[in-house]
Amino acid sequence: MDDFRYVDGRLFCEDVAVEEIAREAGTPVYIYSKKTLERHFKVFDEAFSGMPHIVCFAMKANSNQSVVGTFAKLGGGADVVSGGELFRAMRAGVPAEKIVYAGVGKTVAEIEYALNSGILMFNIESEDELLTIDETAGRLGVKARVALRINPDVDAQTHPYISTGLKKNKFGIAIEHAMEGYRTASALSNIEVVGIHQHIGSQLTELGPFVDSLKKTVELVARLKDAGVDIKYIDVGGGLGIKYLDEDPPHPSELADALMPVLEGVGCTLIFEPGRVLVGNAGCLVTKVLYRKATEVKNFVIVDAGMNDLVRPTLYQAYHAVKPVMKKEGPEYVADVVGPICETGDFLAKDRTMTVPEGGDLLAVMSAGAYGFTMSSNYNSRPRAAEVMVSGGKFQVVRKRETYEDLVKGEALADFS
Ligand SMILES: *Cc1c(COP(=O)(O)O)cnc(C)c1O
Repeated sequence: MDDFRYVDGRLFCEDVAVEEIAREAGTPVYIYSKKTLERHFKVFDEAFSGMPHIVCFAMKANSNQSVVGTFAKLGGGADVVSGGELFRAMRAGVPAEKIVYAGVGKTVAEIEYALNSGILMFNIESEDELLTIDETAGRLGVKARVALRINPDVDAQTHPYISTGLKKNKFGIAIEHAMEGYRTASALSNIEVVGIHQHIGSQLTELGPFVDSLKKTVELVARLKDAGVDIKYIDVGGGLGIKYLDEDPPHPSELADALMPVLEGVGCTLIFEPGRVLVGNAGCLVTKVLYRKATEVKNFVIVDAGMNDLVRPTLYQAYHAVKPVMKKEGPEYVADVVGPICETGDFLAKDRTMTVPEGGDLLAVMSAGAYGFTMSSNYNSRPRAAEVMVSGGKFQVVRKRETYEDLVKGEALADFS
């Protein structure tokens, strides 16, 4: 559910006309509804109220300070995958003791930063990394709390690029080597084993893979207990899908109902790392029509947002609904909505039936709150878009549009020749 709706043919975000935001902030612009963010967080949090848990928002989905800060105010933690995300999380008010840190390539500098910050735990992705963290913690004279990320070899039935829990994926430690990994970890003097972690993929629309992998994890927790390794935290990961077109993903309460029986009596604190499900439908990307163009076989609507602003269609062949910011009467046709970037893969939508737009019309690319701005780039030297947050009848620019000067910030003309 979201807070974008039409009033007399005009698209509103909460109580603000999207057109008004575009006029003030310019285009392309990302718009987020605070009300939706809050509702999504609360729905997720309350679904698991029956057991001790922490909701650690997966920052890579949307790391804007105002978005992360909104969740922090509601008691949320953060799942970070880099030193930069750790910095952003703490700056937005997330307490370090609610931050978990995953990722296959943590550098020594990042590990030091996280240890000095006192994060809840590292989610370890390999034995090499474990040894590096042990060594780094020893050097700093601290203990590193860790969970091992287990790769349960479960097919998440999602796009191959966002499937992470299969043997052939680079993530985690194969489940059959987990006991060994825990034995190694427990023997290291600067490591404190506190948890177990799994995350099998993104945009999951079935409960089966969640249940299957959690069952494997819980079995492992029992075996670890027998072996004298006490697990305090089970980190279930993220991955719950959202509706982009006609998907019918489970509601967080259905996920909770499916997972509860598996967790009966384990006595651990649960950690969840939802990303997309909290932010995806809370945001849209508003873009302006520049030109129309027709070839012998295709109609194109050329807009001022491109794959550098929203790469999901290009990268995952993802579907995003495209809606007019102002509905109007007129003839319809089928067209591709494409950006100004010099790449054939630069499209936001393909073969959409729409009222033939005119230059200057505004279009809203829906469900763009997750993996939208965070994946944007400066490709083709395009300044990145502005971000706006709406709350009730108010809105505020929460990230300024970049300028040309921003594009060359830190760059130099080499003075040797
Ligand atoms: C990406 C990621 C998530 C969030 O995934 P969503 O599908 O957005 O919920 C959670 N945990 C880890 C480790 C991730 O890499």
